[in-house]
Amino acid sequence: MHGLMQDQPLLISQLIDFAERHNGSTEIVSRRVEGDLHRYTWAECAQRARRVARALDAHGLDPGDRVATLAWNGYRHLELYYGVSGAGRVLHTLNPRLHADEVTWIVNHADDRVLCFDPTFLPLVQAIHVRCPTVERWVALCDGSHVPADSGIPGLVSYEDWMAAPGLDYAWPRFDEHTASSLCYTSGTTGHPKGVLYSHRSTVLHAYGAVQPDMMGLSSRDSVLPVVPMFHVNAWGLPYAGAMVGCKLVFPGPALDGRSLHGLIESEQVTFAAGVPTVWQMLLDHVQSVGGKFATLRRTVIGGAACPPAMLRAFEQQHDVRVLHGWGMTEMSPLGTICSLKKQHDALPVDERLHILEKQGRAVHGVEIKVVGEDGQDLPWDGRSAGELLVRGPWIARDYFRSTADGPLVDGWFPTGDVAHIDEDGYLQITDRSKDLIKSGGEWISSIEIEHIAMAHPAVGMAACIGIRHPKWDERPVVAVVLRPGAQLTPRELLDFYRDKQLARWQMPDDVVFVDAIPLGATGKMLKTRLREQLKDHRWTT
Ligand code: ADP
Repeated sequence: MHGLMQDQPLLISQLIDFAERHNGSTEIVSRRVEGDLHRYTWAECAQRARRVARALDAHGLDPGDRVATLAWNGYRHLELYYGVSGAGRVLHTLNPRLHADEVTWIVNHADDRVLCFDPTFLPLVQAIHVRCPTVERWVALCDGSHVPADSGIPGLVSYEDWMAAPGLDYAWPRFDEHTASSLCYTSGTTGHPKGVLYSHRSTVLHAYGAVQPDMMGLSSRDSVLPVVPMFHVNAWGLPYAGAMVGCKLVFPGPALDGRSLHGLIESEQVTFAAGVPTVWQMLLDHVQSVGGKFATLRRTVIGGAACPPAMLRAFEQQHDVRVLHGWGMTEMSPLGTICSLKKQHDALPVDERLHILEKQGRAVHGVEIKVVGEDGQDLPWDGRSAGELLVRGPWIARDYFRSTADGPLVDGWFPTGDVAHIDEDGYLQITDRSKDLIKSGGEWISSIEIEHIAMAHPAVGMAACIGIRHPKWDERPVVAVVLRPGAQLTPRELLDFYRDKQLARWQMPDDVVFVDAIPLGATGKMLKTRLREQLKDHRWTT
């Protein structure tokens, strides 16, 4: 038809091309497994990504073949992001915190042909390699001098040697934007992990959504620290969004403790960071203990699990850092909503503004959201009516990789398994995961709300609330608490703390259990299934 726009496919290689051409001298800084800080530019990253692509051609990988990574956040991992997908192969980020058996299952399910790993993960690779017959090439992400001797891995090669073929000529192939680009498995709490296969189109559209001012609001002036791992839903898309705007990227490598992160934020003048609440808690604790400050950090996305209001307030009121509370899922690439204020909120008292910021926020354009009742009918956006949250959009999964089961969609909508309400202004609030809700005497209780209140107590370091079988009420809420070092607290004191906190009597927890640690899953989220197992013989004391 005449008069229409050009038909240019949306491809990941265009992102790195753009970064090279327009922001080629902007830095990418990485803490390496070797221990030092490595620095180079987007232009050098682009050149080396093309070398990766040539190495894949040389290896004879077919279009769509999977190249797996077991790696921290760093420049070599970034080169693989672009080199593998840009060359029409599929980048498969593996979660190294999973059990060796689970990693083996996933590698075999995905038929990975090449596997690149940080030397830190050599013991894991040694444990799995004989059980991963599809992997033809094991690549250690280091130079030749750091390749572990006597590793027992046949044909192990260093990344630098593997991609060292002379010459730099390489032209990114052009193909259909619906071509698969990357693969990430969600660790289901039941059954086997499920693979989510992203496309070039979904990835580029997601980056356009993420950088918008009311979302992450990124620009070429930012220095961005993705703490959220690149093996976890593409570090929430930051490697792509970063190239799209051409900002500085700062990668923490394996050093995720509070002191290392704070050091990096200050030395690299980080303006924007992103991570899950458990990691930010370590950072805040460290900064508090040394009386530190944030000279340049102004915004941080916190998501993957509910951000405790006490954490949001500490960032906002003690450090002048705006928390952008975000919600998403692996199946959503992952961005669904981010919380930012509207103009009309400027006039509100501080407390009310903070209360809005505690919500999971507004949908990014590209993600439609709705909540439905048990009958499947839409619920009103009144900030009260809670139901199952469903989503629809061009970067949301339709189905799982190689799944033979029926697809998850319900009338074209993806059921998130989260329970939420939405207010008149479109602000989403997650009240629970459907499987974490506590059913007491026929009424539902939100575990998130109970955890948030405990986290606001100065003696509490971490809190997880679960429902425990109860002879009379079916289930009753119990909070498992990790105390801060040196803090003293009795169960009674914490239960008293719940009074006058806007909870009805029946919504308050019935008991408090002090534990040394809350079991965390492979992405740093609380593993409530494990906690339920630990506390299954709980005896009621109250
Ligand atoms: P990610 O951790 O990147 O969000 P996952 O697929 O591992 O992706 O987990 C998605 C689930 O995590 C969501 O369905 C929801 O239950 C929970 N979740 C994510 N972000 C939040 C948030 N801000 N508040 C509450 N729950 C969240």
